[in-house]
Amino acid sequence: MLVNMNDVLYPAKRNHYGVGLFNAVNLELARGIIGAAEATRSPVIMGTAEVLFPYGPLEEVSYYLIPMAKKANVPVVVHLDHGLRKETCLKALELGFTSIMYDCSTDSYEDNVRKVKEMADIAHSYGATIEGELGHVGDNEGSAEGSDQMADPSKFYTDPKMARDFVGKTGVDALAIAVGTAHGAYKLPPKLDFERIRTIANTVSVPLVLHGGSGLTNQDFKRAIAEGISKVNIFTDINIAAVEAEFKRFTNMNKGIIDLIPAAVEAVKQETEKKMRLFSSDGKAAFTKKDASSMNQAELEKLVELVTVQVKKALES
Ligand SMILES: [Zn+2]
Repeated sequence: MLVNMNDVLYPAKRNHYGVGLFNAVNLELARGIIGAAEATRSPVIMGTAEVLFPYGPLEEVSYYLIPMAKKANVPVVVHLDHGLRKETCLKALELGFTSIMYDCSTDSYEDNVRKVKEMADIAHSYGATIEGELGHVGDNEGSAEGSDQMADPSKFYTDPKMARDFVGKTGVDALAIAVGTAHGAYKLPPKLDFERIRTIANTVSVPLVLHGGSGLTNQDFKRAIAEGISKVNIFTDINIAAVEAEFKRFTNMNKGIIDLIPAAVEAVKQETEKKMRLFSSDGKAAFTKKDASSMNQAELEKLVELVTVQVKKALES
């Protein structure tokens, strides 16, 4: 079922687990991600980012992401990650994305507040959610999100008091914070400022987002979630898993690309499932708050079907 970010992130924040955002710039990625969510009964956030449009244009991607999300038997948010221009965010909302991120983190604080507040009002009028970013998440070389290197990243870490002010003034539903991660594959092991995560989580009311999660250790993820992260963005790991599987699978030219597609879907599914278990979102599909009055017929039927299965299970045990 298609839901927005509040539907999946508030239950996550309350119950101390994380929900992954996985980018799906092609059908193999989307199928692997949804397959993993259904197999683990996990809520999931699936989407794309503005810098990934050359690999899958926003409009084309929306043609499969939204119907697949609606059809899924677990809650799926369709999210635009790192919308950089106002027009991009508006287009995503118009296409039916249920969530956007408007990234004005490199603007001045005042401009970040003003632009994100304006976009938050628009997103909410669509019934969609919005994520903002405060501080600056670094970029490793070759990252899908840019490549500006920073000598001292801690200068760009998110300030807790400023975070509270930002959330209050803009009305964002989720906040991406800079606490020592970087986008893309790491050259040096990242060092997370867990203390800062905890302080910000205790200072602001909205769920917190960790960007640049690929490459962290399992322990880092677990601790970041325990300290107050509710959404974790992952792309590099599933992106690489897909190609590794295709590379291994490729032995001869018997069938061409159709030989490789199932291998890529399966690899993405396996890698995504691993992350869902690590973030403890597995089994949490039923935690999602969804008002039955806002469901369409198909969603209602799906819900009845799910409840029936649960009741039968309970009666058998
Ligand atoms: Zn990011």
